[in-house]
Amino acid sequence: MNSYETRTKSELIKIIRSLEKKQGKTAEQRKDKTARRERADEAFEVRVQERTAELETINQALRKEMAARQRAEEQFREMIESAPDAIVIVNGQGKILRVNGETMKMFGYQREEIVQQSVEVLLPDRYRGGHIGHRDAYVVHPQTRPMGVGPDLFGLRKDGSEFPVEIRLSPMKTDEGILVISVIRDITERRAVEDTLRLQKKLLEEKVREMDDFVHVVSHDLKEPLRGIDAYAGFILEDYADRLDDEGKRYLNALRTSALRMNHLIRDLLTLASISRKGSTRASVNLKEVVAEVKHDLDFAIQQKGAKIRVISKLPVVYCDPTQIREVFKNLLSNAIKFNERTPVVEIAAREEGEFHYFSIKDNGIGIESRYTEQIFGLFERLHNQEDFEGTGAGLAICKKMVEGNGGTIWVESQPGEGSTFFFTLPKGER
Ligand code: ADP
Repeated sequence: MNSYETRTKSELIKIIRSLEKKQGKTAEQRKDKTARRERADEAFEVRVQERTAELETINQALRKEMAARQRAEEQFREMIESAPDAIVIVNGQGKILRVNGETMKMFGYQREEIVQQSVEVLLPDRYRGGHIGHRDAYVVHPQTRPMGVGPDLFGLRKDGSEFPVEIRLSPMKTDEGILVISVIRDITERRAVEDTLRLQKKLLEEKVREMDDFVHVVSHDLKEPLRGIDAYAGFILEDYADRLDDEGKRYLNALRTSALRMNHLIRDLLTLASISRKGSTRASVNLKEVVAEVKHDLDFAIQQKGAKIRVISKLPVVYCDPTQIREVFKNLLSNAIKFNERTPVVEIAAREEGEFHYFSIKDNGIGIESRYTEQIFGLFERLHNQEDFEGTGAGLAICKKMVEGNGGTIWVESQPGEGSTFFFTLPKGER
């Protein structure tokens, strides 16, 4: 073998080896690729399974939601049907979409006669034009609210008769836009009761006024002879003093004391009668000033008993009858000082709540048994005799009539020996 042959042979061997190597590599690569593909397939399978599980969960949730919606829809329908009021659902254009059974009973229609009709069919003719404007405005600013106030809301039955109604409107957002739910209540019976009550109240007020007129006249007429009795008793005491023994003088003095007491009773009766005769004339009243004036009026009693009157919160300006509110504070403060066997400490407080001002006058006096806390507001109701605490028993009756005449209420909370707190309210009213 020459060298050429040897070289060619060795090159061939090299080539064959390199080919074999390459082949080996390719086989390895192929194996690798297959493994990779298998891994990718597995990952893909896992992803598919995960995705399928996810979709299943979403599907279940959707099914649940649909069932819940269906249930809610059924409940809504049942609720509407079982409502004691008529319920009419209209769209933004005022077309009736749904009504409940009560609507048909109330208005005398069959369901198919009014569904798809304009809601104005349920109103008397005279309100229709205005109503269209109101409902257009409502759709622009929808909110739950009563529809109008006052005595002028009426429904119209199929037979053309009318009846008074009360209506509440609530907006409901839906995919088809805003729907309006109207809840309609027939208030014929309530109106009749209200009318009767109003009439009875008027008659009662007339009777009270008549009584007060009578009391006023009688009291006035009694004043004159009483003045005479007192004056003549005084003359006898002065002019016949030397001819009277002690007992005679005592009797005459007792007569004058009784005349004075009767004079006070007549004065209180006149005050009481004048409350409803005159009515109340209201104005803005600064209660801080009122209390200062009352304290000044009661100066003698305050000094005599060493009483401490504290105003513990800011007193407001209130819209009420100035003379009457002054009388109320005066009566309550004078009682707080009078019915007290210690050094009187009286606290006046005010606060606001809702539509009212609340006032309290708290004392450290003798207190009141709970069974008497209503009775003492009656006319001439007293729990003590003149010797212990003087008075006519009309002060609280006057306070009650005045407070109630100004739209408020009055009451007391008390424990015997623990002091009393008188409360009264006044409406906030005009400023
Ligand atoms: P008067 O003060 O002329 O007796 P009122 O009508 O003001 O009449 O009060 C009625 C009764 O209520 C009083 O006689 C008294 O028994 C009781 N009373 C009123 N205010 C108080 C008070 N602050 N503390 C205890 N008792 C009171």
